[in-house]
Amino acid sequence: MVETPLLSKLKNMIEISGPISIAEYFHVCMADPKNGYYNNRQSIGANADFITAPEVSQMFGELIGIWCIDQWEKLDRPNQFSLVEIGPGKGTLMKDLLRTAKINQAFLQNGVITLIETSALLKASQKAALSDIEANINWIESIEDLPKQPTLLIANEFFDVLPIRQFIKSKTNWQERGVSLDEKGDLTDVLLPATIETNLLPKDHTAQADNTVFEISPSREAIAQQLAEHLSACSGAGLFIDYGHTKSGFGDTFQAMKNHLSSHVFDQPGNVDLTSHVDFERLAAVIGQNSNLEVTLSTQADFLLAIGLIERAQMLGANANEQTRKTISQAVDRLAGDDQMGNLFKVMRVFSNNLDN
Ligand code: SAH
Repeated sequence: MVETPLLSKLKNMIEISGPISIAEYFHVCMADPKNGYYNNRQSIGANADFITAPEVSQMFGELIGIWCIDQWEKLDRPNQFSLVEIGPGKGTLMKDLLRTAKINQAFLQNGVITLIETSALLKASQKAALSDIEANINWIESIEDLPKQPTLLIANEFFDVLPIRQFIKSKTNWQERGVSLDEKGDLTDVLLPATIETNLLPKDHTAQADNTVFEISPSREAIAQQLAEHLSACSGAGLFIDYGHTKSGFGDTFQAMKNHLSSHVFDQPGNVDLTSHVDFERLAAVIGQNSNLEVTLSTQADFLLAIGLIERAQMLGANANEQTRKTISQAVDRLAGDDQMGNLFKVMRVFSNNLDN
């Protein structure tokens, strides 16, 4: 085990106050103000740990720009509204989106662009990426600080970074997975005394084999609830893209990535990206509790193809050389291919009921 500064901190924590849950471990690894992953190293890009859709191709942000303008039109073109991205990474999506939005000056002039970001390191990258843009851009750290006005909210690969709890089936119940120390003082798995209410489990939970894992993310649901309340009170639309499933299920999806390779989740805490798959059925249910919001789920492929991925690729390729055309076509495959991001990634759209969709 590589002894990272965060590993020493975690060991101390466990020695002093006993085993911690996977959710606490996940949270400390990602959000520790000094040694947490997003404050600690460059995470996104070809030379970093992982690649996201906006980094694959400019077409991703451009098409989301078209989607945003469309929602603004459907809201009756409010003359003051917020265009918000949560977890904007390197700022690439917003940069591509705003370049596209130049086709509609009224949209750009009426929108207050707000980025919600907790990492100082990534905030600096976003500021650099957006420095040339002539628009009113500001940064906040929490949804609560958004002005109360019509809002278009977007997030790509945001929900997957929020901590999950894991429960493991035994003969008699589902017990929480935790992190403890073994006799050598290294991090190791442990079962905690906590169990889960059976009404939170999918219906077929009794039919699952021993050691089956169930994941639930209270912090993800809390943020979804906050976002929903904002859209419900202020009107608007949300677009949330992530890897995950449209039906709640079972299985261990907690994963670690470093330099584009997967590693063990206890390996090098603070130096590896931790994520899990998003349970969109639960998020949609949480959001749908607000009776004036409508939620739809689809695959990334279906969403991108419906808003014009192929047409955009053809336009970009029209006057390009052979090599560029090949790159564009590879990006289309990567974003929408069944065996690539097209199926694994899902799109959740949320609309307040004054939008005519
Ligand atoms: N959307 C980007 C980045 C995804 S990585 C892309 O597609 O490339 C996750 C992002 O969420 C990072 O910017 C990270 O710093 C941010 N983040 C993590 N926890 C957050 C929180 N609680 N509130 C706001 N942003 C958060």
